[in-house]
Amino acid sequence: MTTAHDLDVTPTPLALLLLGREADPKSERGVDCPGDLPAPSDPDLVARARAAKEKLGDKVFVLGHHYQRDEVIQFADVTGDSFKLAQQAAARPEAEYIVFCGVHFMAESADILTTDDQRVVLPDLAAGCSMADMATAEQVAECWDVLTEAGIADAVVPVSYMNSSADIKAFTGKHGGTICTSSNAKRALEWAFEQGEKVLFLPDQHLGRNTAVRDMGMSLDDCVLYNPHKPNGGLTAEQLRDAKMILWRGHCSVHGRFSLDSVNDVRERIPGVNVLVHPECKHEVVESADYVGSTEYIIKALDAAPAGSKWAIGTELNLVRRLAKQHPDKEVVFLDKTVCFCSTMNRIDLPHLVWALESLADGKLINQISVDRETEDFAKLALERMLALP
Ligand code: SF4
Repeated sequence: MTTAHDLDVTPTPLALLLLGREADPKSERGVDCPGDLPAPSDPDLVARARAAKEKLGDKVFVLGHHYQRDEVIQFADVTGDSFKLAQQAAARPEAEYIVFCGVHFMAESADILTTDDQRVVLPDLAAGCSMADMATAEQVAECWDVLTEAGIADAVVPVSYMNSSADIKAFTGKHGGTICTSSNAKRALEWAFEQGEKVLFLPDQHLGRNTAVRDMGMSLDDCVLYNPHKPNGGLTAEQLRDAKMILWRGHCSVHGRFSLDSVNDVRERIPGVNVLVHPECKHEVVESADYVGSTEYIIKALDAAPAGSKWAIGTELNLVRRLAKQHPDKEVVFLDKTVCFCSTMNRIDLPHLVWALESLADGKLINQISVDRETEDFAKLALERMLALP
C-alpha cells in the first residue's frame, strides 16, 4: 500500500481527520481511536464478545442505539433512542461500566445522567455526529452576542435538540432553556414560548422548522435561519427582531438527504405505499409524507401496521433493514434509492466492541467519555427542565 510517507508528502489536518488519524478536540468526529483492535475477519469475534460480557456480568451495561449495526445490537442489553438509553443507564447504578454503542454526544448525555462512580465508554472515539458538530460552543456564544446586540437576548429562550454536545446543552441550561427530543419538541416549544417571546433552536433547523410550522401553527416567515459562518448569522437586526423562531443552520447528514423526489418516486414505484419519515427530514419531505415521527414512533407504527401494508421509511438504513426483517408480513422499503447509513454510527463495529469489552474485562478502562463538572451541572439543568415538561 502506498502511504503518505512513501510519497514524501505531509497530509493536511483535514486529510488526517478524514482518515481518523488525528484528534480534533472541538469536533465530535475525527478523533483518533487508540487500541489494538481484533481483525474484522477473526471468526471468533462473536464468541469473544460474549465471553468478555459474561466475565464482566452486572458490572457492564451495553446500550445500543437503533441505528447501530446488527452485529453490535445483538450484544445490547437495551436498545432505544439517545434519551431512552441515557435514562436506562441512569437506572442501572450498579453497572460500573456503561458501554455506549452510539455516538459521542449520546455517551456525554449518559455521563451527565449517571453517577460519578459509573464510567461511560464509547467503543470508537471517532463515532461523532455531524449534526452536533455544526454548533460549537464558540459559535453559539457569538450568536448570543449577536442577539444581545440586536436587543432581543432577554426575550429569547434556547431550545436544544438532544443531538448536541454537552457544551451546547450547558449553554442552554445557563440561558434558561431546555433540551428536547424529536418526541417532545412541540411540548418544549410550548414551554419556551411561555417563558419568552422567541426561541433559538439548536442545532437542527429541520426539527425546529417542522415543529414550529406543523405542530405550532407558525408560518415559514416566522422562522429565520442563523448561519454561524456568516457575520451576524447572515441576518439583520430587524430580521432577528421580527422572527419568532431563530433556527440554527444545522442538519442531519442522513435525514437531510431525503428529497421530495424520493417521495414522489416511491409513490410511483409502490402504489398505496405509506410514507413515514423522521422530523429531521427537510420541511418539504415532511409535508409530503403520510406520517411523521421519532425513531420510537416509527418502530411503534410498524408494529401496529396491518399485514400486507406497504411502507417507505425515511430514516437511517440499519433501522429500516431491521424493521423489514422484523415485519416479513409487510412491505418495508428505504425511502431513498441510494444507500444511506449514518457513517459515524457505523464506526462502532464488532472489532471495536470486542476490544472495549475485553479491555474492561481485563481491568483496563479505555475510551472513557467524561464531562467536566461545570458543564455537567448546567447541562443537567437543561435536561431536568425537559423532564419536568408537562
Ligand atoms: S443519524 Fe444524523 S443526527 Fe443521528 S448520529 Fe448520525 S448524523 Fe448525527
